Amino acid sequence: MAQIVRIDPQNPSPPTIARAAEIIRAGGLVAFPTETVYGLGADGLNPVAVARIFEAKERPSEDPLILHIADTDALPSLVRELPPLALELGRRFWPGPLTLVLPKKPVVPDIVTAGLPTVAVRMPAHPVALALIRAAGTPIAAPSANRFGRTSPTTAQHVWEDLGDRIDLILDAGPTSIGVESTVLDLTRPVPTILRPGGLSREALESVLGPVAVLARMERGPMPAPGLFPKHYAPRAELILLMGSPPGLHRSLREISHHYTAEGHCVGLLIAEEDRSAVADLPVEVVAVGPEDDLETVARNLYQALRTLDERDVSVIIARDFGSQGLGLAIRDRLMRAAGGRVISGE
Ligand code: AMP
Ligand code: MG
Repeated sequence: MAQIVRIDPQNPSPPTIARAAEIIRAGGLVAFPTETVYGLGADGLNPVAVARIFEAKERPSEDPLILHIADTDALPSLVRELPPLALELGRRFWPGPLTLVLPKKPVVPDIVTAGLPTVAVRMPAHPVALALIRAAGTPIAAPSANRFGRTSPTTAQHVWEDLGDRIDLILDAGPTSIGVESTVLDLTRPVPTILRPGGLSREALESVLGPVAVLARMERGPMPAPGLFPKHYAPRAELILLMGSPPGLHRSLREISHHYTAEGHCVGLLIAEEDRSAVADLPVEVVAVGPEDDLETVARNLYQALRTLDERDVSVIIARDFGSQGLGLAIRDRLMRAAGGRVISGE
């Protein structure tokens, strides 16, 4: 059973960090907070330790991991080519929610990169994460600390629920501040390409790089039939993503709620504060994730909201879209994946 140890997010206790670092060096697993979500960490240069991550998460081996570093100086030992652009992005956005994909050096084990010739690297902006990486003296491979396919953890309690019986230690520094995973940017393509939208907005990247490409979801490999979509970032309940804006959005929220409650479903709504009055009379569970124009709050609350609706035993979740500006793109991406293709236009 994992031990949960409280740790001050701003001034992490050195003995606690030393203990966690010792576990990492010995090939064990430590869940720790980053500014995005909680990560499940292991020594990123030790293939046996990294294999334990895949085992604990039940993560398919084709899904590569991100290496976390505490200093840009660690980059040259991990990557074969370091374009000036990478250093510029590092100066501008690290520590922070940006992951860079670059050609890897042989020292990075194949199990980390799922056999790819590239490696994903990030410097997280959380004092606990940085202290742990420094004390361990090795890059830490860390995917989100949840079982594969489940919602990413934004609290130590979430980690405990998914992985408590499978890992050595959980460092609990309270809820994470950003709440969605990092933006993954591939610098090995002719045009810098966002592989996964995340905590750093496309607009922020474009302010430095000029236009960047966003990998269309179609390009991520063959698409199975809608019913067979691999669910990811997903609650237990079936999720439907509702696009559009009020008043059409509110009309559709009501219609779809009626449809499912009439079928005997227990319906949950994931909406903005502003939507509450439009659905106040419906016999449904409601979680408002924030004001619709405060996407930082919406992102921070998103995964907890999905877990809350699961706890209320809803069988269908209808989630509204929050647009594609700023963090809206990452929020949409996660909801689309959770929806596994069930997307409805609300207008
Ligand atoms: P997670 O650690 O769960 O946040 O997921 C990490 C994600 O980063 C993976 O699912 C990939 O989408 C992406 N990633 C990691 N390494 C690479 C790589 N070498 N090339 C492309 N994408 C990568
Ligand atoms: Mg993950």
